[in-house]
Amino acid sequence: MSQLRLNLLTGRWVTVVPSRAKRTSDFAPRAQKVENDPDRECPFCPDSAHADTPLLENVDAAGNWQLRVIPNRYPAFEGDESLAVRNLGPVHVMAEASGTHEVLVYSPEHEVRFDNLSDEQVAKFMAALKTRFAAHANTPNIRYTQAIVNHGREAGASLAHPHGQLLGLPFVPGEILEEERAFERFKGGCIVCTTTEAESNNERFVLANDHAMVICPFWSSSPYELLVMPKAHQQHLTDTTDDALVGVGIAIRDALKHLVATLGDIAFNLVFHTAPSHHAGMYHWHAHLFPKLTTTAGFERGTGVMINIIAPEFAAQELRNAAVNA
Ligand SMILES: [Zn+2]
Ligand SMILES: [Zn+2]
Ligand SMILES: [Zn+2]
Repeated sequence: MSQLRLNLLTGRWVTVVPSRAKRTSDFAPRAQKVENDPDRECPFCPDSAHADTPLLENVDAAGNWQLRVIPNRYPAFEGDESLAVRNLGPVHVMAEASGTHEVLVYSPEHEVRFDNLSDEQVAKFMAALKTRFAAHANTPNIRYTQAIVNHGREAGASLAHPHGQLLGLPFVPGEILEEERAFERFKGGCIVCTTTEAESNNERFVLANDHAMVICPFWSSSPYELLVMPKAHQQHLTDTTDDALVGVGIAIRDALKHLVATLGDIAFNLVFHTAPSHHAGMYHWHAHLFPKLTTTAGFERGTGVMINIIAPEFAAQELRNAAVNA
């Protein structure tokens, strides 16, 4: 069972998952990693011997699954206890890491990448997010759900088969609390709606469709960072209509196409930010795309201040001009 431990210096929770890295070889360089071991069976391929009971499954006419959500076999968060904070000592504040940890296998094909998905597959992916977010919102001990896609070893993907993860947490994480405070602080209406207006057709604009706009934000903290902004003002991803949700998913896929055309098959993190289930104030859900091109070093760890060596205006120009396959 993993534990939440409170960093008293920052007020942020840390999750300690003791079973995850048992061997020092888990920290071995890339070439020795299991991802590249051809003898190791992929647990997410359809012919895998591991028959997990899916929490959600899309099956085609022939009876083959096209997408499935399954429990993570090595969950970082597990159980239905509500957050019970305990003091173990003068500076030792902990709680059980209850909640849920799910894997969203969005294609039966081992080799496919998010930027290669068809509109229909993107629609399935976004619908699965909506369904699972709604299920988590109805689970009493889950306060926030973090959906992510990690692609590439450098971005933390431990298995090559394309998949995302949904982590249902018993607390609202610090990053979201900070964004909530920022929405409250902003005097000009909604930050995301105002950004959409301010950045359309300028030097940081990358692409748009009827339902979403993608930019390199003015405050990009890392090279080629992207912000995906749904055009409809909704607090929660689950408030969005199915059509609009597909449009946002297609904008994410197309943004990835532009990244791949510009930089190649890079590692990236895709993260969805939505208002916590029980949230009353201002918020507008969105997604961040972080290409993993650099590492954070001492200055960033020491100060929390990121140094970005590529201006977002330059990055956006490169991405706009990329020769993208339709
Ligand atoms: Zn596979
Ligand atoms: Zn808004
Ligand atoms: Zn955000």
